[in-house]
Amino acid sequence: MHKVTSEELFQRALKVAPGGVHSPVRSFKGLDRAPVFFKQAEGAFLTSVEDKKYIDFCQSFGPLILGHLDQEVKEEVHRMVDTAWTFGAAEVYSLELAEWITSTLPFMEKLRFVSSGTEAVMSALRVARAATGRNKILKFEGCYHGHVDNLLVKAGSGLAGTAASSSAGIPAEVAAQTVVAPLNDEAKLAEVFAAQGKDIAAVIIEPLPANYGLLVQRPEFLRKVAELCEKNGSLLIFDEVISGFRVGLGGMVEKTGIRPDLVTYGKIIGGGFPVGCYGGKAELMNMVAPSGDVYQAGTLSANPIGMRAGLTTLKKMQRLDGWNVLEKRTEKFAQTLKSGFAKKGLNLEVSQVASLFWIHGQTPAPIRSIDQIPQNQGGTFKNLFLKSLNNGVYLAPNAYEVGFVSMAHSEELLDQAAQIIIEAAE
Ligand SMILES: *Cc1c(COP(=O)(O)O)cnc(C)c1O
Repeated sequence: MHKVTSEELFQRALKVAPGGVHSPVRSFKGLDRAPVFFKQAEGAFLTSVEDKKYIDFCQSFGPLILGHLDQEVKEEVHRMVDTAWTFGAAEVYSLELAEWITSTLPFMEKLRFVSSGTEAVMSALRVARAATGRNKILKFEGCYHGHVDNLLVKAGSGLAGTAASSSAGIPAEVAAQTVVAPLNDEAKLAEVFAAQGKDIAAVIIEPLPANYGLLVQRPEFLRKVAELCEKNGSLLIFDEVISGFRVGLGGMVEKTGIRPDLVTYGKIIGGGFPVGCYGGKAELMNMVAPSGDVYQAGTLSANPIGMRAGLTTLKKMQRLDGWNVLEKRTEKFAQTLKSGFAKKGLNLEVSQVASLFWIHGQTPAPIRSIDQIPQNQGGTFKNLFLKSLNNGVYLAPNAYEVGFVSMAHSEELLDQAAQIIIEAAE
């Protein structure tokens, strides 16, 4: 009997969805082959429709810190599915997750659950504008904050700090509400604030930028961002959709000791289900409807299955000291890769923070802004990705996406994966 192939499915998918996918990076664009179509996932593994097994370092782009189909999460989800799917009414499940978060993370005085990271960011910006009576938002080049109109922008070619939209369909007037500054550059940031500080409602930053490679910021830079916000009466929003509950229980807020006004979460907080969250200072969150007049709502917000999956994931990570375990394992994995690359005389480097890693060409200094990324990153990655894939390792299919290690990736499995990647890099 003929078994369906990924290539055949992709041809069908191209007829019914733009680019054959429901989120762009899944399409393998620029990689000269159809994306692998998967049918099953478990632990650290994905199984394709061709019945090929892959070690998965994409992990759905971050939510699955325990790996696919974690047994404890699965049991909770099954229980919840048998209890209720959605209420559209007050219930106990979101209360439990909200109480757990606010009692564990003191900077989260009050919060609101939504259904995606994008929604969390969009809502946080609305609060910041209402709170300050200002319109402009400052973002950094190389940070991703979801597909909010306002933030799909890049640095414009004209005036320093003025943004141009990076997507069609965004009015110039909307893009003009955003100010863009480079990462890792205190002087430039001070300049932008000197010119426009009084109009800036909020600065939004990925405190660990991980959507354009892994652009680790110097603590002094992050402190400067906080200081300039404070001085200018602009709110500081940490977008921890990727770093939250990934670099540690308290995310980058805990790691940096910087207290932002608002924080956004997504990914891990839903344990693999669609959950986002924004929160922070109570006085700001009290501005949100129905207690205040910043409107924000959602039919499926705080969906009980996501609430249960999220809480079970977070409690399990806490119980297992998961963040420490993962950091050690990933550090060793990165070391194995680096020494493997070095032994073969390959000009490759691995950036790693906690359970995130990014493979890139060697550079004279650590990469902290997008202009420091080697020119040939796309080509280097394509070769590495395709050969790794062939030998059973699934990296996130884009040169600028980071890899995610989960609790389901054992040391042995990581060693095995490292050998495959090193071989692929030759
Ligand atoms: C993934 C991500 C988002 C968007 O979240 P979605 O759930 O995909 O809408 C926003 N900000 C950061 C930092 C992210 O990593």
